[in-house]
Amino acid sequence: MTDNRYLMAIDQGTTSSRTIVFDRYANVVASAQQEFPQEYPQPGWVEHDPEAIWDSVTAVTADAIKGAAGAEIDALGITNQRETTLIWDRDSGKCIHHAIVWQDRRTADYCRQLKESGKEAMVAAKTGLRLDPYFSATKVAWILDNVNGARAMAEAGKLAFGTIDCFLLWRLTGSRVHATDASNASRTLLFNIHTQDWDEELLELFDVPASLLPEVRDCAADYGVTDKSAIGAEIPICGIAGDQQAALIGQAGFSAGMTKSTYGTGCFVIANTGANALESANNLLTTVAYRLDGEVTYGLEGSIFVAGSAIQWLRDELKVIESAQATESIASATGIVDHIHVVPAFAGLGAPHWDPDARGAILGLSRDSGIDEIVTATLQAVAYQTRDLVHAMSDDGIDPSIIRVDGGMVANNWFLEFLAGILGLPVELPKNPESTVLGAAWLAGLQCGVYASTDEIAELWASDAVFAPQMPDEQRAVLYAGWQDAVRRVRS
Ligand code: ADP
Repeated sequence: MTDNRYLMAIDQGTTSSRTIVFDRYANVVASAQQEFPQEYPQPGWVEHDPEAIWDSVTAVTADAIKGAAGAEIDALGITNQRETTLIWDRDSGKCIHHAIVWQDRRTADYCRQLKESGKEAMVAAKTGLRLDPYFSATKVAWILDNVNGARAMAEAGKLAFGTIDCFLLWRLTGSRVHATDASNASRTLLFNIHTQDWDEELLELFDVPASLLPEVRDCAADYGVTDKSAIGAEIPICGIAGDQQAALIGQAGFSAGMTKSTYGTGCFVIANTGANALESANNLLTTVAYRLDGEVTYGLEGSIFVAGSAIQWLRDELKVIESAQATESIASATGIVDHIHVVPAFAGLGAPHWDPDARGAILGLSRDSGIDEIVTATLQAVAYQTRDLVHAMSDDGIDPSIIRVDGGMVANNWFLEFLAGILGLPVELPKNPESTVLGAAWLAGLQCGVYASTDEIAELWASDAVFAPQMPDEQRAVLYAGWQDAVRRVRS
C-alpha cells in the first residue's frame, strides 16, 4: 500500500451542506456542516436560494480544508440532493430563479396533463421514471415559462441548466466546466438511461432546448480543477454521484443484488441490478446506480417519503417525545405493538403505492392505548414500509439476502431489530455511517488513482453489527397483514 493519501467530498443535501476529508482508509480527518434556509413561497412549493447553497458549500469546504491542516488533498468528490433544478446565465453565472427543490409539487397539473395525453409509457421506457413533479424536466419547463425572457435567452444559448452537482461544478471550476454525471442525469426525465444520452423526443415533450444541457460524464471522471478564488485551493474534481447512488457506493454495493436502505428524513432503498436495467412491474424506479469506464450499473429504487420525519412529527407536532433518541427506550419498554398502526402518509404514499392523495392515520386505538404505543407503532411503520419496498423488489425478481442500512435512524437499535424481524432478513450496519459522502470520496479516489478498483474499495468497507431476524414467522405474518389492512384504509 502507498502512503496515506487524502480525499475530500462535498455533500450538498436538502437541509444542509457538508464537507468531509477522509484518509485513504476511510477515516474522517476533518468535517464541517452548515444548514441553510428552506423557502416555502406557496403551499406545495419548496425553493432554495442558490447563493445560500453556494455560500454554505464554500464555507464548510474551507473549514474542512483548514481542519485537515497539512493533509494534501488528492481529489474532490461531489454528492448532492437529486432532481433539484437550477438555471443560470452563462455570462454572469447568476441563477435566473431560485432552485426548485425535488419536494416541490408546483408542476403536478402539468404532469397530470402529460399523463392524460398518454405519454407516461414512453417516458418510463426511456428514463425508468414516472411522470411526477419530483423529477427535473417539468421544473425546467416551469422556470423557462415563468421567468421573463427566459425562453428567448435559452433559445439563444445564453442559459445553462443543472442539478446541484452541476451548478457547484460550474462555480467551483470558475465557470469552465458544464457537466454532470450519469446518476444525476438519470433523475431529470430528459436522459435516456439505455442509450446514455439526452433524448430528443423527451426534450421536445418537455419543451427544453438542448443548448441548456450539460455534458454527461462517468461518475469517476476528470471534472476539472477547483478555482483558487472559489475555495482557496486548486483540487482536481474527480467524482460525482447523486446522494442515494453515492450511499450505495459508500456501502460498497458493487455487485448485483446488493441493497442499501438510507433512513434520513425520508427513506431510499436501492438494489444494484448490474448491467440489467430492470423495468419494474411494481412501481419502483429504474435508475443509473453508477457509470464507471463507460459501463453502466443500474439500480432499482423505492422511496418512503416519511421516515425520520415521522419521528420529528412525534417530537415537534404531537410533542410526545423530547428527542428522536427517546423513541428507542420507549419502544424497548413497550415492546412490539400489534393492534395499532400509524400510517404516516402525510404527503401521500410513495412506492409501491404511489398514491399522492392518501393521508395519514392512526388505526386500531382502544381504551388502553397510550402515547408509548403510538411512538412504538410509528417506528414500526417505517419498517413496514421498507418491507413494502422489499416485497415489490422481490416481485420484480430481486431478492436481497441482506440489507445494508445508514442514515440518522440507524442510531436506534430497537428499530433495526424490528426491521430485521419484519423483513425476515439480516440488517447490517457499517462502521462508517457516512455512506453518502464516503461514496463521493471513493469515486474521486478511483479516478485519481488512490484506489485501483471497486474491489479495493469494497475491502475497506467494514461491518459494525448485523441484526439477525428473530421474529417468529407467524408473528411477522400477522403484524404485516395488519399493516396492509391499515394502508388499504388510508388510500384515496
Ligand atoms: P437527513 O440527512 O435527511 O437530514 P439524517 O440522516 O441526518 O437525515 O437523519 C435524521 C433523521 O433521523 C431525523 O428525521 C430524526 O428524526 C431521525 N433520528 C435520529 N436519531 C434517531 C433515533 N435514535 N431514533 C429514531 N429516529 C432518529
